[in-house]
Amino acid sequence: MSNTAPVKSTTPRILIVGGGYAGFYTAWKLEKHLRKGEAEVTIVDPLPYMTYQPFLPEVAAGSIEARHSVVALRRHLKKTTIVAAKVTGINHADKVATITPIAGEPYELEYDQIVVTAGAVSRTFPIPGIADNAIGLKTIEEAVAIRDRLMSNFDKASTLPPGPARDRLLTVVVVGGGFAGIEVFAELRSLASSLVSKYPQVTFEDTHFHLVEAMSRIMPEVSLKTSEWVLKSLAKRGAFVHLDTQLTSAVDGNVELSTGEVIPTDLIVWTAGVMANPTVVRGGDLPVEERGRIRTRADLRVGTEDEIVEGAWAAGDVSAVPDLTGGGVGGYCVPNAQHAVRQAKLLAKNLVAVLRGELPREYFHKNLGAVAGLGLYNGVFQSGNLALKGFIAWVAHRGYHGLAMPSWERKFRVVWGWWNNLWLGRDLVNLEAVQNPRYVFEEFAARPRPAAPAAEPEKKAVTEAPAQKVAASR
Ligand SMILES: Cc1cc2nc3c(=O)[nH]c(=O)nc-3n(C[C@H](O)[C@H](O)[C@H](O)COP(=O)(O)OP(=O)(O)OC[C@H]3O[C@@H](n4cnc5c(N)ncnc54)[C@H](O)[C@@H]3O)c2cc1C
Repeated sequence: MSNTAPVKSTTPRILIVGGGYAGFYTAWKLEKHLRKGEAEVTIVDPLPYMTYQPFLPEVAAGSIEARHSVVALRRHLKKTTIVAAKVTGINHADKVATITPIAGEPYELEYDQIVVTAGAVSRTFPIPGIADNAIGLKTIEEAVAIRDRLMSNFDKASTLPPGPARDRLLTVVVVGGGFAGIEVFAELRSLASSLVSKYPQVTFEDTHFHLVEAMSRIMPEVSLKTSEWVLKSLAKRGAFVHLDTQLTSAVDGNVELSTGEVIPTDLIVWTAGVMANPTVVRGGDLPVEERGRIRTRADLRVGTEDEIVEGAWAAGDVSAVPDLTGGGVGGYCVPNAQHAVRQAKLLAKNLVAVLRGELPREYFHKNLGAVAGLGLYNGVFQSGNLALKGFIAWVAHRGYHGLAMPSWERKFRVVWGWWNNLWLGRDLVNLEAVQNPRYVFEEFAARPRPAAPAAEPEKKAVTEAPAQKVAASR
């Protein structure tokens, strides 16, 4: 028997934290750039798919099938080890991450290079009722639940007489007038307008749509003139935006506004901002800037201009990457998919370069503009001074996102779905009952007969007791 210790593998181990936009693209491109045996790549994400978040408003409106707007990691990452877990701690000083799997006990995983791409979560404020009654729009599950809720509410409302209970079911409140908020607001309005024609008991006037925005304008990504056109277009379709207004309470099915207005509602969608993933940022020892993001250099290594944190990389919404074009907010890239994808592609190249002893390049991307869908056949597009509105912008929105969806397999499913909807109409199936899938089975399931009542032997004992007593007294 040999006494020598097992030889430790010298192949660099790359750990990617989060398989969303930036994480998925980093792994995908690493698979392309790395030579065989040059490094081992592991991606950790509690979800088995990357979510194409720009499609969430259309999923909420039933214009895209939920499964088509996510990309299965295992199907497209063939050389990457995929771990269904959360990273709950990063000890970069020792190059060890704490992995908390979706089943089983947490464990420590050693790495040589870490790529942090854990994205962002909805940022809320301590407003009474929001944490318990509102829903965000960052995940596919939320988009599906929003759609199902609106459709179930139509079903319920159609069985009720006119009155406050029915009004509440037919009222939607969206908080936040950024891109995500306006898109989901407009898409839900569009869905509700289609639903009205299927419910003879519900009229267009019975449905109420309110968006609450704290600032004096919506969609800061487009010009003021374009944003005003969006406001008018929404108002024409019966969807009202409350500017310079804050939501102050959301308790007992009533939304209260800073203007004093009270809106009874059964659906509150919260899209008023995001913050870098707190679990990963706070649970680690990587440097964090004032706004809670991982301090990242323009070459996508963690650190500052003067100090590099060796072996640590970051990209996407979790990171603060300097925007060298001079645009951005506070000198940093804004959190969007445009940046996340491009940063990830460069990150993969830079990481491979560093492994080979070469120099990494700096990230430089000039904003291409913004495009938003505002419900079926309506949209808005802005690039510099060029603004497109209405149908042509909607075509640009679908064209851009149809092409931007990663992988031909996924592009095909999405575009095929749109094609089908064009001829067959929007899919109006509501599967909210999936939340309680056993209800029919349980109602009719045969159960074992209850055990025979234990009362008989007791009776006997009682009748025997006096006899014994008698015997004892003889
Ligand atoms: C409704 C909506 C519409 C949008 N529309 C546009 C648009 O039109 N154009 C545009 O450019 N951008 C758009 N965006 C923004 C864009 O989607 C994000 O900027 C982008 O997804 C950021 O990518 P990311 O990889 O940083 O984060 P994400 O894509 O959010 O990925 C983060 C990943 O990390 C995983 N994760 C979380 N916690 C952990 C953990 N502890 N351990 C391991 N993994 C973890 C998550 O499960 C997720 O898979 C939109 C966003 C939303 C919500």
